[in-house]
Amino acid sequence: MEDRSNMLISEAVRSVLTSFAARENATVEDVLALARSLPAALGDNASSITPEQQTAAINSLQTARPAVAIDQSVSDDTVTCLCCGKSFTMLKRHLKAEHGLSEQQYRAQFGLPEEHLLVAPNYSIRKAEYAKRIGLGKYAREDSPPQDAAPTL
Ligand SMILES: [Zn+2]
Repeated sequence: MEDRSNMLISEAVRSVLTSFAARENATVEDVLALARSLPAALGDNASSITPEQQTAAINSLQTARPAVAIDQSVSDDTVTCLCCGKSFTMLKRHLKAEHGLSEQQYRAQFGLPEEHLLVAPNYSIRKAEYAKRIGLGKYAREDSPPQDAAPTL
């Protein structure tokens, strides 16, 4: 069916646009210019994009804008979610629960390199040390496993 093949091409256009929009220096104008030229480049008969596709391009640009600067999203004790700007010791569970994203989808959405940390460095170190201590058969009481913040009242 012709409609169906057109839809597939639009899907390709959309995915290219989405990854382009994830670049930090991409502007709305860049994305729109690309959106106009892409269908032709991909062999789509319709050389112009619909207002709906324009809106989708702008929306993807906005959702791909990180809430905080990527290079400031990792500190020793916390990693900050680029979707909403909240800080955690590890992002995996939050991404799934709040944004429905896997770690891979999250990296793709913001163009994060494989080495970008999604777990706070200190937390990883502490876990490794804890594991090592267990492995050595020494039970250290002062460094119990992390628990949810206990009420101080
Ligand atoms: Zn979030």
